[in-house]
Amino acid sequence: MEDTFELGPIRPPSEAFSLLLRLTRNCPWNRCNFCSIYKNQKFELRGVEEIKRDIDTVRDIRERIMVQAASAASTDDPSTAGRMMLARRPEQSVYSVALWLYGGGRNVFLQDANTLIMRTHELVEVLEYLKATFPDTDRVTSYARAKTASKKSADEMKALHEAGLTRLHIGLETGSDAVLKLMDKGVTAAEQITGGRRVVEAGIQLSEYYLVGLGGRGLWRENAVETARVLSAINPDYIRLRTLSVYPTMPMNQWIADGSFELEDDEEMIDELRLMIDGLECESRFVSDHINNLLQEVEGKLPDDKSRMLAIIDRFKALPDDERTNYRIGRRARIYDSLDELGDKHKHDVVERIVGELRRGNHDGDPEQIEQLMKGYFISL
Ligand code: SF4
Repeated sequence: MEDTFELGPIRPPSEAFSLLLRLTRNCPWNRCNFCSIYKNQKFELRGVEEIKRDIDTVRDIRERIMVQAASAASTDDPSTAGRMMLARRPEQSVYSVALWLYGGGRNVFLQDANTLIMRTHELVEVLEYLKATFPDTDRVTSYARAKTASKKSADEMKALHEAGLTRLHIGLETGSDAVLKLMDKGVTAAEQITGGRRVVEAGIQLSEYYLVGLGGRGLWRENAVETARVLSAINPDYIRLRTLSVYPTMPMNQWIADGSFELEDDEEMIDELRLMIDGLECESRFVSDHINNLLQEVEGKLPDDKSRMLAIIDRFKALPDDERTNYRIGRRARIYDSLDELGDKHKHDVVERIVGELRRGNHDGDPEQIEQLMKGYFISL
């Protein structure tokens, strides 16, 4: 019996307790200038039989964990069985199955970057095998590219949904053709709309990701307005906010070094976010589920919560300069979760001391320099 199965590198935060199954390796596009996840990694399709063997391995590991829990603690509860196995710190494959059981054992995430690239009939075969092996599964999710989704027919997409695919995550990032081209995203705004709608119309839940800041200072306004237009046309179930952070491994890092791309600062990104949200005409749930987002509490169901979400942004913008700096540094330092925590005297004092130390350390009180230093400081902890 095989003891291990293949795992890819990433999953969305909302899939923390999902079973991870790798259907393809890496990204078939791999050219986006803001992304380094799969750089220098060759894209590969995996064979259907190979994937089925991984599913069989997961089934066998699950059975073993359940038998051990029944014998050690007379329980047939998957969550308890998963917790007991996790306490033993098992190797990666067993750990992954135990974590899935601990979370209830009902959700599956298909890796890597664009599972829709598989031939539809092969993906259907895998989904049906998965459903037959784990009939209790509630949700099967994957990442997808909008371009690939736009090339699938409505019938193909429906077949995937009927075979068990229930949710797709698409990295829209921006609805601006200029920014899409600059970033070499390999898709147009029109294709983003076609692909997104095809998913929604097939009855598959859709999460679209918006990357605030991707247009830089030169294209921030267009980035906001066009992204709102495209997202409104798609009307996805979820819009998930991400904040641009540039790392040395990303191709666009060179543009910042040579001055051809100017990053927006936090306050400019907040202006962009406000303009984007204000332009949304859809019924999506807006989710801020990433630690790098400055205002984590800007979340809600559109259109009802739009004015409340905008009011949170306005509350931040109306703060005195020193308080905005305190909040930004405190947030980057992972001390604050929300604006309300500015009223927590202990936290506020801790952040104020950090700000003071940074300013004394030759940074002239410039919030951008402070922030850069803080990022380096906390990454190195
Ligand atoms: S399509 Fe997605 S995974 Fe592939 S390079 Fe672009 S952002 Fe990265």
